[in-house]
Amino acid sequence: MAKKLMPKINLDECVGCEACVTECEAQALGMVDDKAKLVKADACTSCKKCSENCPSEAIKMEEQ
Ligand code: SF4
Ligand code: SF4
Repeated sequence: MAKKLMPKINLDECVGCEACVTECEAQALGMVDDKAKLVKADACTSCKKCSENCPSEAIKMEEQ
């Protein structure tokens, strides 16, 4: 699979607010143990809404 820009979540910075999950129209993100996780990487459209809406700047977009 070709690499694409997807969210890399820093679990130490994530405060579990779920904002990224709510913002992700592709439903590529989910909550696991109160932390955000990229659960459906194939669905990610690289829209960056998750990283832009994370209040703790826990999400960086990276080629993955
Ligand atoms: S970049 Fe967009 S589609 Fe991908 S996980 Fe973030 S909000 Fe969802
Ligand atoms: S928006 Fe940021 S702090 Fe909130 S759940 Fe997502 S990664 Fe964690």
